[in-house]
Amino acid sequence: MLTGKTAIITGGSRGIGAAIAYKLASLGANIAVIYVGSEAAAENVCLQCRQESGVAARAYRCDVSDFLSVKETVAQIKADFGTAHILVNNAGITRDGLVAMMKEEDFDAVLRTNLKGAFHMIRHTAGLFIRNHEGCIINISSVAGLMGNAGQCNYAASKAGLIGLTKSVARELAPKGIRCNAVAPGFIATDMTGNHQENPLLGQIPLGKMGEPKDVAEAVAYLAAASYVTGEVLRVDGGIAM
Ligand code: NAP
Repeated sequence: MLTGKTAIITGGSRGIGAAIAYKLASLGANIAVIYVGSEAAAENVCLQCRQESGVAARAYRCDVSDFLSVKETVAQIKADFGTAHILVNNAGITRDGLVAMMKEEDFDAVLRTNLKGAFHMIRHTAGLFIRNHEGCIINISSVAGLMGNAGQCNYAASKAGLIGLTKSVARELAPKGIRCNAVAPGFIATDMTGNHQENPLLGQIPLGKMGEPKDVAEAVAYLAAASYVTGEVLRVDGGIAM
């Protein structure tokens, strides 16, 4: 159970992040949802967490790619909740394209949100975790970061970068009682994969179907409680990257 803990979930307004918010709330955690544009959706996720799980839940508009906005938002979360114990770096975007034609701004935008965004969040929450002598960081990577994916060099690079970030932070903060792990989802049915339904890779999934956001949320809940697990990358992918 996570009663008395506070979890920050970036990109908690939709898809996988919303499922993570519901799951951690059902285990008793108070919830801070970070979103960038979908205010109504984020407020609705918080309302459901409060109504169905009886926890405190608040939404914060923050672009995770902006170092100072993240600093201010984490300070506001500390003011509202007192501290934080769990950070889930889930916010992510795609700007797919073939490497020979990819615009520089599309490469940079994906790296800024997916990889630097996670760094910004860890950078500004680490002090809270260190003071608490406990903390759990979970970065949502992707099988694209393990296998690569044609047409997604920017996205795959950001997700592979998250794995290096995860293992470095895990080593650096383990002596402070802070764990850092990653989850690598495969094809999960969300807005992000809406246009991937016809992807030929779907036929290569050993379990024969796309995953659901709740499948990833279950893995996050496991890692939130797994007190002897750090530096791990847990695939939730129907077996595609085994
Ligand atoms: P999604 O439905 O597109 O939702 C993306 C979420 O990220 C939204 O809540 C969005 O907020 C938030 N976000 C985007 N840019 C942000 C920024 N700059 N600052 C703050 N929040 C931002 O995506 P999803 O499919 O649930 O994916 C969630 C994570 O899982 C991503 O990191 C993705 O790369 C990873 N993943 C997904 C799959 C998959 O198959 N779906 C597979 C592997 C990994 P708004 O609602 O406000 O826009």
